[in-house]
Amino acid sequence: MVKSAYIHIPFCKSKCHYCSFVSFPVLERKGAYINALKNQIKSEYGGEALETLYFGGGTPSLLSVKELEGILKLFTIKDGLEVTLELNPETVGAEYFQSLARTPVNRLSIGVQSFDDEILRCIGRRHKSSDVFRVVEEARCAGFNNISLDFIYGLPNQTEESFISDLKCAASLGVEHISLYGLKIEEGCFFYSQMPQNIADEEMQAQMYLSAIDALKERGFEHYEISNFAHGGKFSRHNNNYWKNQEYYGFGLAAHGYVNGVRYSNPINLDDYLENPLRKDFSRQLDEQEKLEEEIFLGLRLKSGINVDFINAKFNIDFAKKYKEVLSKYMLTGHIECKNSVYSLTQSGILVSNTILSEFLE
Ligand code: SF4
Repeated sequence: MVKSAYIHIPFCKSKCHYCSFVSFPVLERKGAYINALKNQIKSEYGGEALETLYFGGGTPSLLSVKELEGILKLFTIKDGLEVTLELNPETVGAEYFQSLARTPVNRLSIGVQSFDDEILRCIGRRHKSSDVFRVVEEARCAGFNNISLDFIYGLPNQTEESFISDLKCAASLGVEHISLYGLKIEEGCFFYSQMPQNIADEEMQAQMYLSAIDALKERGFEHYEISNFAHGGKFSRHNNNYWKNQEYYGFGLAAHGYVNGVRYSNPINLDDYLENPLRKDFSRQLDEQEKLEEEIFLGLRLKSGINVDFINAKFNIDFAKKYKEVLSKYMLTGHIECKNSVYSLTQSGILVSNTILSEFLE
């Protein structure tokens, strides 16, 4: 059963230097895009009451509140629905939040990346740290009580001390959620061709990450997923549905979906999507083994891990027996632990999670 929907808004005012997401500074195509997006939703959405909707990007806050409402009214909106909007601090003001608060949007995810204005300038962000303080206050005044901030570590000239001081500052703003991502310079971004000086190596990134876990735990944040921390139980319910391997719609350019056991991705090319928003670049019915591997892959990202009774019943397997070799190997090295029939990665396991996870694949 489909529980969630992701809606991609691929527009940004300019491109950040580290960004290889599908996003373009072509706002003049916004109207045509919204029409195509609505056509896709009307044709693929089954009308069921979902648990979460997520506007990601790009910069979804470049849509006016009226444009967002036009999209939202295509969905069945029931009490308890979590609706997240990603936003960039320089794109919105108090009036926007006041109007937004009258829509079903009830969770905000703000791209902060750093509170150091020199670092922000160097990575091509358009906002300053003062914009973040302003929007958090404006959002609070408008009644938003579920705010998440995104940060990147390993940025040019960023020290461990400055990163941790950013996180302390974020915690002091009283936000409910913080996400942390290590800088990755991938093909297609500006930094890929103009490699910046003074970026953290892998070891330094690991050190920054471990210090961040301690700093956030000390401030009452629960480290519930590899990159995510929640205060007062305010997890991202949307992302939790992904990690619990639930089905979800993917609407919009380059969005991925998982419906009726089929994983799919929408066109990555804007012209292709505008021409036919129902076209898929990729679509594949997963077999039982693939579903099981995804369940393991996603489940081990969560602190709540993999419950043996649950996975055994769901896939009709004996998990501990089937994966005896890899489980004992990493339990011996202290990378995986098992408590009360739940297998999860330890802190040292998280640091080498990609290697461990790949060993569960057949
Ligand atoms: S990082 Fe975010 S704001 Fe910057 S260009 Fe990429 S999608 Fe847009």
